[in-house]
Amino acid sequence: MMYDPNNVFARILRGEIPCKKVAEDEHTLAFHDINPQAPVHVLVIPKGAYLSWDDFSARATDAEQAALTRMVGRVAREAGLAETGYRVLANTGRDGHQDVPHLHLHVLGGRPLGPMLQRPRD
Ligand code: AMP
Repeated sequence: MMYDPNNVFARILRGEIPCKKVAEDEHTLAFHDINPQAPVHVLVIPKGAYLSWDDFSARATDAEQAALTRMVGRVAREAGLAETGYRVLANTGRDGHQDVPHLHLHVLGGRPLGPMLQRPRD
């Protein structure tokens, strides 16, 4: 998987397509997922062109990594999920079933989320 500068999240960052913004800082943007899987389903992305968790964790600056971590906590806290709990998910690469080639963290909550993974079918 290669970074495609025309991926949907790069286009959101450039303002070419709209998003329902939740929060923003110098290094990150948080917005509602267009196809929510839970009552709260927010995506947190770095503003830099990073393909995946693998790419981001290797190349991003300490400031970018700290900002992403803090934004995930802030989004969950401000959505009222800190007490009840939530899940943070970064689908990465083929086996992780990553669809959009720009790193995004899913923040999911607002209902019991069930077991972490579906069991593979035999
Ligand atoms: P993933 O499978 O982890 O790559 O997830 C991609 C996510 O991006 C999915 O949950 C989609 O619903 C979401 N998505 C795709 N296009 C948009 C968009 N224009 N605005 C908000 N979320 C989107």
